Amino acid sequence: MAFEINKLPYDLGALAPRISEETLQYHYGKHTAAYFNNLSGLVAGTPFENSPLEEIIAKADGAIFNNAAQAWNHTFYFAQFSSSPKTAPEGALAEAINTSFGSFEQFKADFLTTAGKLFGSGWVWLSKDGAGKLVITSEGNAGNPLRAGLTPLMTLDVWEHAYYIDYRNRRPDAVAAHWELIDWGIIGSRFKV
Ligand code: MN
Repeated sequence: MAFEINKLPYDLGALAPRISEETLQYHYGKHTAAYFNNLSGLVAGTPFENSPLEEIIAKADGAIFNNAAQAWNHTFYFAQFSSSPKTAPEGALAEAINTSFGSFEQFKADFLTTAGKLFGSGWVWLSKDGAGKLVITSEGNAGNPLRAGLTPLMTLDVWEHAYYIDYRNRRPDAVAAHWELIDWGIIGSRFKV
């Protein structure tokens, strides 16, 4: 079975200027496509050949884990954005954010602090634990909170390939733009599951 990249839920230019069409051409069309292609080659003839990505992430190591996790992480990342996003959480998700972090503003501040401490390439995540509490974690390289039994809700890609075309070395500006594109309606749907 070949792993195939998921179609983007919007046009390549839909997130501009915060995330440019050129960035998506590379980030989605080149980097993410490569993780899917690499994975298909790596799992051929292994026990993971017909496994769902989540099972590979839970069990694999090395190159198979890295490519499977990057395939999953990017699909999840691109699916959380909208050109006309709902800019704040509502309902049960809003309550959970208030309970876990004090307020939405404090959550954003905590998330930025965690992002600022992540050295090098990786991901910052908002996830739900088994008790329904929300947690912010950071993972180096391809790391994914599924591995720790958490349910991911939202993520920030802090690999330079995610922002260097648009923001060069200005990672804080890229993070600020990320907030403007997150659709909290989509994150709310993930929270309910
Ligand atoms: Mn990326």
